[in-house]
Amino acid sequence: MGATTNRPALTGEYDVVVVGAGAAGMYMLHRLRGIGLRTIVFEAADGVGGTWYWNRYPGARCDVTSVEYSFSFSKELEQEWNWSELMASQPEIEAYMNYVADKFDLRRDIVLSTRVTSAAWDESSDTWRVETDQGDSISARFCVMATGCLSVPLRPDYPGIDDFKGVSVQTSLWPKEGVDLNGKRVAVIGTGSSAIQAIPEIAKVASQLIVFQRTPAYTWPAQNRPITPEEMAEIKAHYDELRERQRNSPLGIVGRFGGALLEPPTQNILDLTEEERLAALEEYGFGVTRIFADVPTNMEANEIARKLYGMHLRKIVKDPRKAEALTPTDYPLGCKRPVIDSGYFETFNLPHVDIVNLRKEPIVAITERGIRTSEKEYEFDVIVYATGFDAMTGALLNINPRGRRGRTLQQKWANGPRNYLGLMTVGFPNMFTITGPGSPSVLSNMLVSIEQHVDWITDCLAYMTSKGLATIEPTQEAEDAWVEEVNNVAQGTMYVAPSCNSWYLGVNVPGKVRQFMPYIGGLDRYRQRCDEVAANGYEGFELRGSPVPA
Ligand code: FAD
Ligand code: NAP
Repeated sequence: MGATTNRPALTGEYDVVVVGAGAAGMYMLHRLRGIGLRTIVFEAADGVGGTWYWNRYPGARCDVTSVEYSFSFSKELEQEWNWSELMASQPEIEAYMNYVADKFDLRRDIVLSTRVTSAAWDESSDTWRVETDQGDSISARFCVMATGCLSVPLRPDYPGIDDFKGVSVQTSLWPKEGVDLNGKRVAVIGTGSSAIQAIPEIAKVASQLIVFQRTPAYTWPAQNRPITPEEMAEIKAHYDELRERQRNSPLGIVGRFGGALLEPPTQNILDLTEEERLAALEEYGFGVTRIFADVPTNMEANEIARKLYGMHLRKIVKDPRKAEALTPTDYPLGCKRPVIDSGYFETFNLPHVDIVNLRKEPIVAITERGIRTSEKEYEFDVIVYATGFDAMTGALLNINPRGRRGRTLQQKWANGPRNYLGLMTVGFPNMFTITGPGSPSVLSNMLVSIEQHVDWITDCLAYMTSKGLATIEPTQEAEDAWVEEVNNVAQGTMYVAPSCNSWYLGVNVPGKVRQFMPYIGGLDRYRQRCDEVAANGYEGFELRGSPVPA
């Protein structure tokens, strides 16, 4: 959706360049202004909001309660904004992001419709030179990559993909003007979070909907509903307490989630008799998979919970063929990101909705008329690709920053991302990443993680400015130790089970190295660590006052 700007190219010098104007880039700009740093933000889209600008597909919404998935830095903002639902929809969150941009007068320093194409460290001047697809070439002492973890859409490379004569659309590039799905024959490829939100909505208007599924998902009911004005008033009265609890929680979330309590469970499913397990299933439904302590760590327990999950699914989906196709069988619960849905399985009881199991009937090609599998050709008016993202590293590696001695990030991360605290990587001084690999990031409520990172970076830059320091860069020792810690804490969890394939591991992208990218130790523990590092004079970082000799 980025357009040609027809504006004069920018050539100035700045203190900080921020790439991306999603929640992270916007809040970063606000804080940097607050400490008097001259900042410019480049954003590829023609509007702000990042994820909530791009993902306009039907049914797109937050899966964390919106009062928790919102900024905490302004009490005024908290009091002014009303959320209409527990989990707000994309238009409401996009409106919120725009409200924030206006309220804090952010737009004057955000350059829209402009994609950063390169960033190179100049060792002689200790600055980053940043270039864009609009001809801009600016320099800045610091570069903050607020480029997003889920901002590079992936599309399969099926033979004939461009031959389709109908409408092809990606959930993450959904056009602003919408797509007419009324009475149309629609295909959805993929069954991750995006597809699972879109499918029930598309089914409401399409004449036929066929879902092409490679891996069945574990999904839990959202239990979304409107928030009453009385509830909103109550929330506003207690925001301080809520925020404090969020910041000190491992996920940045304190509320109920998918029907199960977030307090860590203590009982083991392996200690229960078969009757007790069935009684728990009766009581909790799909939530039964979230209430036992051993399910996330013990494969035998996990298997039992998975079977209970399948039993509940078969109660909902009436057609045994569809139910079988939809039941996850070959990977553990807790491997992929939990999916939250509104009536997903129920949708498959509609006569005009069907599922194709790509494990049995793979797609061979996209044709002029639709999709050809190993069995037959299906005809469609619209094909929806809900096929995910090159997550966590994709946007950074697309820019491919060039650090000290001309070494690129693609070269440095050829065997997977390496950095210190998920914030900085050796060889790339003064370049920060927000919610990058190696931080809790996508394993947490992202707005809480974003605020934590932005606040830490702001404090760091204020410290450097006050001491007259020119550069900051992690030590090799600190980076190596952190990479080891990130790997170690993930061991023994279902996230890295041999049968697990997820975008957390990068395996959804052909050729990407299999490495668990986020830090699973918890946002509370991570925050404490970052605070200690800062309190100890930025332990593990090297700070210098003048240019480093080449
Ligand atoms: P983004 O919002 O992704 O913004 C990054 C911006 O950088 C984008 O606008 C992009 O255009 C821009 N950019 C990237 N590269 C360049 C470049 N080279 N030049 C210029 N601009 C560039 N998280 C949760 O915690 N809870 C949720 O419920 C939740 N729901 C989600 C739903 C969807 C559909 C998706 C895709 C993600 C969801 N997430 C959720 C994760 C979500 O990405 C984060 O919560 C958050 O919005 C990330 O903000 P950000 O600013 O870091 O990145
Ligand atoms: P995703 O979880 O990666 O799902 C992509 C889907 O497409 C998977 O089912 C995948 O199958 C399938 N797929 C990919 N390539 C395929 C191919 N070549 N042929 C057939 N199928 C293919 O992507 P997503 O649904 O966009 O979600 C990504 C993340 O964004 C989520 O995990 C979440 O963090 C965030 N998100 C959140 C929400 C929310 O509820 N708030 C909504 C949307 C997105 P395999 O599993 O076999 O790879």
